[in-house]
Amino acid sequence: MEAGNEEPPLSQATTQPSPRNALVTGSSRGIGAAIARRLARDGFRVWIHYRESGEAAEALLKEIQGVGGDGRLLAFDVASAEAIERVLVPAVASEGPLDVLVNNAGIARDGLAARMGDANWDGVLEADLSGPFRITRAVLPGMLKARRGRIVNIASVVGLTGNPGQANYSAAKAGLVGLTRTLALEYAKRNILVNAVAPGFIETDMTTRLPKEKILEQIPLGRAGTPEDVAGVVGFLCSDAAAYVTGQVIAVSGGMVGS
Ligand code: NAP
Repeated sequence: MEAGNEEPPLSQATTQPSPRNALVTGSSRGIGAAIARRLARDGFRVWIHYRESGEAAEALLKEIQGVGGDGRLLAFDVASAEAIERVLVPAVASEGPLDVLVNNAGIARDGLAARMGDANWDGVLEADLSGPFRITRAVLPGMLKARRGRIVNIASVVGLTGNPGQANYSAAKAGLVGLTRTLALEYAKRNILVNAVAPGFIETDMTTRLPKEKILEQIPLGRAGTPEDVAGVVGFLCSDAAAYVTGQVIAVSGGMVGS
């Protein structure tokens, strides 16, 4: 063997850390896709999750693999307790534990409270609050055993302020903040750090029908946020730099609201 071309000693080769698993729910598009890209870049093996947008999820996985990253696909409806048990629980048992869970998948079904039907109330509460709770419950045993984990819940500034026309959505996101703070207290001693990120107005499919110019007037930084603006803060919360941060809510809103 030529000088400078030696194999690393076996002891070094076998101490390579195994890839860290990160599940990002709703990462087929929007904010979740940006978070998946960011965590892949940071060395995580990203579980790209979706419900309907299978082609977009597959394309994202190929993109990540194309730049040397690693990941897998996972499809289930976050609003279905049955699907979480059938799909997520066995996946974690065979390929877990997860080091990172980002509860990002969410929906909005807007309307004034007086005329909001049960379907829109229950649908948003199931997807945006009960789903994150059940998913967290499914991944916690593995994190507890490993004595490490990071959970980031994607809430919203309207969960902090309220918003006319979003009784269901703001209640679900406020609930997610309460869940975040409680989980942080319950599992701090096991080194599981739980935080929330509260985006303001981020340009994605979810916000295309909103009155952009009117909303921009309320944003001190004077521009809409990008999915990457949110992903940067999530990446920080999943990094070693955030090892002493838990139970916090960080607004990513261009200054629209403090947290
Ligand atoms: P988006 O562009 O509409 O994307 C939503 C993602 O969630 C998609 O990947 C979608 O997957 C997935 N999803 C939705 N319902 C699901 C379900 N029942 N089961 C599984 N996956 C589901 O939304 P976004 O703007 O990126 O929002 C991401 C998160 O940020 C949400 O929690 C949202 O409430 C929050 N947020 C967004 C803003 C904003 O301004 N955009 C502001 C504050 C908070 P499929 O396409 O496969 O269904």
